[in-house]
Amino acid sequence: MQKAFEAALIDGKSLAASLVERIAGDVAVIKAETGQTPGLAVVLVGEDPASAVYVKSKHRQTEAAGMRSFVHRLPVDTTQDALMSLLDQLNADPAVNGILVQLPLPPHLEAAEVINAINPAKDVDGFHISNAGLLATGQEALVPCTPLGCTMLLKDRLSDLSGLNALVIGKSNIVGKPMAQLLMAENCTVTVAHSRTRNLPELCRTADILVVAVGRPEMVRGDWIKPGATVIDVGINRVEGKGKPRIVGDVAFAEAGHAAAITPVPGGVGPMTIACLLANTVTAFRRQNKPNTTRFAAE
Ligand code: NAD
Repeated sequence: MQKAFEAALIDGKSLAASLVERIAGDVAVIKAETGQTPGLAVVLVGEDPASAVYVKSKHRQTEAAGMRSFVHRLPVDTTQDALMSLLDQLNADPAVNGILVQLPLPPHLEAAEVINAINPAKDVDGFHISNAGLLATGQEALVPCTPLGCTMLLKDRLSDLSGLNALVIGKSNIVGKPMAQLLMAENCTVTVAHSRTRNLPELCRTADILVVAVGRPEMVRGDWIKPGATVIDVGINRVEGKGKPRIVGDVAFAEAGHAAAITPVPGGVGPMTIACLLANTVTAFRRQNKPNTTRFAAE
C-alpha cells in the first residue's frame, strides 16, 4: 500500500497575493505622501517566447500594484552600444526607480557588462556586482527576487532558521549563490551542491532545508529527502508526454510525502519571484527618495 502524502504544501500563490496586497497599499501611501509613483522599466531583447510571457506578466502585475510600468522591446539584432545607451537613459530618468533586463540575452550581447551598467540603486534584480557584494558582506542590498522569495517562504513556514542544515543544489548567480548567502544570513549551516558534487543523495539526506535550483525534471527523488525536511523546489521544467505538456519541478513531488513541507510547482516559488520584484521596486523608490528608509515596509 502506498504511504499517505503527509507533507504540508507551502502555498506561494497565497503568500505572494498577500505580499502584493501590502505592496499596493504601500504604493498608495507613497502616492498620497509624495505625489510620485514608483516606476519599473523592463527591457526585453529579442523574441524568446518564455521571456515574452514573463515580461507581459511583470508589466500586468506592476500596473495592478499601482506602479508605472515601462516596457522596452528591442529587436534581436540590437547592438551592445544601443542597449548600453538605453540603460544610460533609464539610469538618468527620475520616473524609473527600477530597471530589469530580461535574461537570457541573445548570445552576441555581453550580459555581465549590461547588468553592471545598471545603476545599482535601480538594480531591482539584484544582479549587479555591487549588490552581490553588499549581500555577500551582510550589508543592505537589492536582493535577487527568486532567492528572496524562497527565504520569505521558509521564514513564513519555520520562523527561525538558525542552526538548521541547509543544502542548496545549484550555484548560479541568479538563484543558488544568493540563496546560500541569504541562508547564511539566517544562521543556517549551508552546503552548496552542483553538477560536480559527489554523493548528492547522501548530502540531501542531511538537510533540514533543501532548496533545489537545477533545471532537471524531478531529479531529486523521494528517498533523497530527510523525513521532516522543508523542501523548496525552484525548478520550472516543461515535460512533454501524453496529452498537454506539464510543468514540473526539480523534485519528484509525489515521492516527497514524508517531508514536513514542500512547495508545489507551479504555485510555489514562481509567484513569489514577481511579488519580490515589486517589493524591490518599492524598496528602490524609498531608498532613492528617502535614504534613511531602507526597505519596503512590509518585508
Ligand atoms: P542554471 O542553469 O544557471 O544553474 C543550474 C545549476 O544546477 C548549476 O549550478 C549546475 O551546476 C547545477 N546542476 C546541473 N546539473 C546538476 C546535477 N545533475 N546535480 C546537481 N547540480 C546540477 O539555472 P538557474 O538559472 O539557477 O535556474 C535553475 C532552475 O530554476 C531552472 O529550472 C529555472 O527555470 C528555475 N528558475 C525558477 C525561477 C522561479 O521564479 N521559480 C526563477 C529562476 C530560475
